[in-house]
Amino acid sequence: MVLAATGEDTIVVCSSCTYAANLEKAATRPVDPGPAPAMLPLTKVETPGMKKVAVVSEFLKISSEDLVKTMVYLVDDKPVAVLLRGDHEVQPVKLKNLLNAIDVTLADDKQIFTATGVPNGYLGPLGLTIPVVADYSVAAMANFVIGANEKNYHYINVNLGRDLTINTFADLRQISEADPCPKCGAKLELTRGIEVGHIFKLGVKYSEAMQATFLDAEGHSQPFIMGCYGIGVSRIVAAAIEQNHDKDGIIFPLPLAPFQVVILNLGLQDVAMNSASELLYQSLLNNGIDVLLDDRDERPGSKFKDADLLGIPYRITIGKKFSQEGLIEIKERRSGETSTLSLNETVAKLLNSIKTQLS
Ligand SMILES: [Zn+2]
Repeated sequence: MVLAATGEDTIVVCSSCTYAANLEKAATRPVDPGPAPAMLPLTKVETPGMKKVAVVSEFLKISSEDLVKTMVYLVDDKPVAVLLRGDHEVQPVKLKNLLNAIDVTLADDKQIFTATGVPNGYLGPLGLTIPVVADYSVAAMANFVIGANEKNYHYINVNLGRDLTINTFADLRQISEADPCPKCGAKLELTRGIEVGHIFKLGVKYSEAMQATFLDAEGHSQPFIMGCYGIGVSRIVAAAIEQNHDKDGIIFPLPLAPFQVVILNLGLQDVAMNSASELLYQSLLNNGIDVLLDDRDERPGSKFKDADLLGIPYRITIGKKFSQEGLIEIKERRSGETSTLSLNETVAKLLNSIKTQLS
């Protein structure tokens, strides 16, 4: 991952240690429940028309942290209820990994009703017949609110152990800036990034299908465990530009630049300038340099602007100074440094600095 404000992925980065992960992977720590409060009597309360966490908690004058929401996911087409604290969100990839599933999708109202017989918004784990898994944070809760599995009703003062038994607790929620670093406990920062490379563990999915096997130490045939490694070629370009630009445009790092040198011929009407441009262009090409010759009939100003915008590391100008003194200007895109040299010196200088940087 390369950090960049325009990145399509959210990345969690620790402010203190080297921990970094994307949201699918960033681990949350089980919450320390502290001393258990006295259990209050389980009570069913009427919550007419109230389905959303915010609405229910406002009506009951509680914080959303005191409510357990029940989400239904179709895990490889089978419904599973996921419990989590009212202010938390499910991280579907964590659920997928926990249940070793191929596909996990949030059930819609109709699918929820088919699976549970309860309208969405009033679901709760009490008496639910589909499998239930809960996020770690639920284990730390007491006297909480759940849906009563009945339209317009919720339960208050629900307690684990007394009213409800959950067999599976896991890290199932999306991490947030409020969570501590899972490694060192320091503050986390959420930032954007571009995924430029990845590794997938494919397991035996494809090797079994293709019957790609090897013989193990006992002489038994086993499918290969496969992995794949990818690099996002076009994303690398995007990431490099994010990190290397200024108000005028791209500043390509030399090894990545599509052209290392751009020659601006500012004297299309001038025989000497034309032939110098061509000569320089050919000598650089012959020496293995990627070079672009701008011989468009444009004003010098637009040629300079376009060269900056394209971000080619070296800009060579064959202009007035050449017709007057036989001198050529070299400008480095990154530093803005210029030098004025003869044609032969220009070739030598470019070859030398490009080769040094690429070696
Ligand atoms: Zn840390």
